[in-house]
Amino acid sequence: MTFSDLGLRSQVVKAVTDMGFEQPTPIQEKAIPHLLKSESDFVGLAQTGTGKTAAFGLPLVHRITSSQRNPKGLVICPTRELCLQIANDLKDFSKHEKSVTIEAVYGGADIRRQMTAIKNGVAVIVATPGRLVDLINRRAINLSEVECVVLDEADEMLNMGFKEDLDHILSATPDTKSTWLFSATMPKEVAQIAKNYMSNPLEVSIGTKNQGNENIEHIYFAVKERDRYDALKRLIDFNPKIFGLVFCRTRRETQQVAEKLGKDGYSAEALHGDLSQAQRDRVMNMFRNRSIQLLVATDVAARGIDVDDITHVINYNLPDEVENYTHRSGRTARAGRKGESLVLINTREKYKIAQIEKKISQKFVFAEIPSPEAICSVQLESMIQKVKDTPVNEEEIEKFIPGILEDFESLSKEEVIKKFVSAEFNRFLDYYKKAGDLNARLSDKDTGAPTKERKQRNRREDTDPNKTRFFVSLGEKDGLNPGGLLRVICDATGLRSNTIGRIDIMPAFSFFDADKSDVDTILKKVSGAEFEGKQMNIEVTEAKKPSSRGRGRGNNRGGDSRGFGGRSNNRGGGGNRSSRSRSSSSRSRR
Ligand code: AMP
Repeated sequence: MTFSDLGLRSQVVKAVTDMGFEQPTPIQEKAIPHLLKSESDFVGLAQTGTGKTAAFGLPLVHRITSSQRNPKGLVICPTRELCLQIANDLKDFSKHEKSVTIEAVYGGADIRRQMTAIKNGVAVIVATPGRLVDLINRRAINLSEVECVVLDEADEMLNMGFKEDLDHILSATPDTKSTWLFSATMPKEVAQIAKNYMSNPLEVSIGTKNQGNENIEHIYFAVKERDRYDALKRLIDFNPKIFGLVFCRTRRETQQVAEKLGKDGYSAEALHGDLSQAQRDRVMNMFRNRSIQLLVATDVAARGIDVDDITHVINYNLPDEVENYTHRSGRTARAGRKGESLVLINTREKYKIAQIEKKISQKFVFAEIPSPEAICSVQLESMIQKVKDTPVNEEEIEKFIPGILEDFESLSKEEVIKKFVSAEFNRFLDYYKKAGDLNARLSDKDTGAPTKERKQRNRREDTDPNKTRFFVSLGEKDGLNPGGLLRVICDATGLRSNTIGRIDIMPAFSFFDADKSDVDTILKKVSGAEFEGKQMNIEVTEAKKPSSRGRGRGNNRGGDSRGFGGRSNNRGGGGNRSSRSRSSSSRSRR
């Protein structure tokens, strides 16, 4: 299948060929023929990295052939970064259609300049919701002639609280338009938008709904809370060529981790909502052009970051919302590449892994924090590779060689090698010499929810060794209570309520104990049962003993060596000035 087979005009096909795209990706193959039709509402469930920008961008520039006074195409996306990225892609797609003009409008930039551009006539507007509402309210934009509206990363826009803005924008567009919605996940709120604003959309899903990208390997590590930062450094040290995102839960934590990494000699910067737009731009540019290796970010600030080649996403702390894990991990393994999403948990957070596994329909691998020896050997290997790969400038070094050889005359070849390696490596060996094992042991009870929460919840009785514990996919927020859960179990199985033991109702899920002899009946009959219209899934939660296999991974070995376990060797571009500087002058909504 080629791009011209999809029905695109020759100028558009030429543009994608110029970009080096040879074949359409699966979402492009499915979406483009449908989106070329005039009546074409569409819902695309696809992760970032699947080629979805071209899936909507190519038909958009195909359908809009000239710029008139008012925009014909409108793309709405959650962040400024994504907005610029999409506008650039659309410009590339339409480069052989000089008359099609594209303008990105987003917050934090001069609104008057954007108003002037719109006034001069723009064919396609790519906008963030807040700024677009501002322009509508100022009557600076007329959306009454819009033919296609694209809602990109709809789930992220709703997560960011743009629901009202989206309603406002969509109500300013004509009923006759086509609406194309793209989302990585399909929570209720997104389904509601599809229902409210679309008629019979074609729904295309790449992978199964809510499923994560299979090129991402999800790995978790268990540490004591106090070792979290040291464990982070080990994960970085174990992957010398890492180009990654480190996610923290709050702005404060983000700032602190970035500052500590900077002080410890890692090439890291912070990205969070307290930075001004200029600071954000600076950090993002450094990350894009790889002057820094690590970006430490909050969920909101990292939304829409569209940087290819991210090798690792490290969850320094898991997000409060399980949904956000999908957004985080989706930043790696883009466009068919492989990537790893690493998660640090403490001994009370194991249940969060189960929650995420359910959400992403993928299993996590448990791994141990690499030992000092493993890290030293990876780093050494990386350093040696770097030396081997270093080009020799024969001409320039020629004149120094006689003197150098003379200086080393008394040493054997082996001694010289040892000294050169030690000069670079001693600091690192010293740091790890005193470092112990950072792995925390997870016990069976760690698979449950936090003890504090357990205490507060409705408890029937303590855990009984003759009972098996079950996980239930519904919780308090689904209206479930102990009585309701008992009713479902007993109705479905015919069991008497006194055979059911302790019940813990948590906000998003629940647990109950039942006799070991009833496990099969419960799994068979209760799984899939309904509670107030919602399907209930049941699983046995018995903790599996963590495997003790070491990580032994090193897909990014060789090349750069950084950080060196925390000794300050001050490598990597840019220092850590911006990770220290804070500003409350940000006008962005993040
Ligand atoms: P997206 O999911 O739109 O963010 O795209 C992810 C990456 O895949 C971007 O770097 C695109 O340039 C690239 N890409 C999109 N479509 C194709 C294609 N058909 N062939 C090769 N690369 C593509």
